[in-house]
Amino acid sequence: MCRCAHEGLVPEPRFTALAGALRGASLPFVAVPDLCGLAARRDPDLLEWARHPGRKVVACHPRAIVNLFDAAGAPLPGDALIVNLRADSAQTAATQLGIEWNEDRGSGAENELRLSSDSVPTPSPFGPRSSDLGPRSSVLDDPPSPLHPAPSTAPSTLPPPWLPWFPVIDRARCTDCRQCLEFCLFGVYTLENGRIEVRHPENCKPHCPACARICPHTAIIFPKHTEAPIDGSPIADEEAEKARARRELNELLGQDIDAALAERRRRAAARLLDADKLRLAMAERERCSRKPGAEGRT
Ligand code: SF4
Ligand code: SF4
Repeated sequence: MCRCAHEGLVPEPRFTALAGALRGASLPFVAVPDLCGLAARRDPDLLEWARHPGRKVVACHPRAIVNLFDAAGAPLPGDALIVNLRADSAQTAATQLGIEWNEDRGSGAENELRLSSDSVPTPSPFGPRSSDLGPRSSVLDDPPSPLHPAPSTAPSTLPPPWLPWFPVIDRARCTDCRQCLEFCLFGVYTLENGRIEVRHPENCKPHCPACARICPHTAIIFPKHTEAPIDGSPIADEEAEKARARRELNELLGQDIDAALAERRRRAAARLLDADKLRLAMAERERCSRKPGAEGRT
């Protein structure tokens, strides 16, 4: 179950009521603050859940969830049940899960949620695990953990928590045309064996869905967006979406789209080059500071 703690797209009373119903029916479940964040760092729990017999996911729009798991390298089998608690009521969700609905069950669920283990640190391109999810204890009343000590009052040099906002590719729609790759200035996308991948979600600018707007096949989802179908909801009118993408591309890039994309490629390359130079300089500085006699130098 995803609580959507950062953006609140799953209303809290709905989440709590369904959690209460599950508890009342003695059905075990795992609640996480932000499924997007787990997918961004390819959390190994996702693979375990995807393989679990009879797995059910309660989160938001199924098209977003299927592709989030896919992006995390944990594809859900075709028969996995995805319940959309963003769109449906707790009662509808309970019915889909085969639970008898009882209005009284909502209360008291809060303190009895079984939580996904957050105790095994895994390498992440997004820094410490707490930087993208925040301490789970603060969101889900998780017991204090030595890995997530209580916040200190001392000044912190940690970056602010990362909002897990990034594009998710709908594989059933993407043609690998590379338009997103050429459009993005921040190196979010890469091309691997002819396939577009989102390898640097942490580079994405929070609340910017620009690449989704220019995708000619409506194949880019931002699960936390509030607008359909960028949020992963079903595409109601294919032709209208294609026309909209063409219009947005013209508005953003002007009439000579090829020239504009070439210019963006150049700017993106320069930006990445600068980032590489900075990384090399920092590595060199680090090496120098480790040389004997270099202690104390800056
Ligand atoms: S957008 Fe969907 S998957 Fe992402 S945190 Fe919110 S409910 Fe969960
Ligand atoms: S622009 Fe859309 S269809 Fe083209 S590669 Fe990107 S996601 Fe796929």
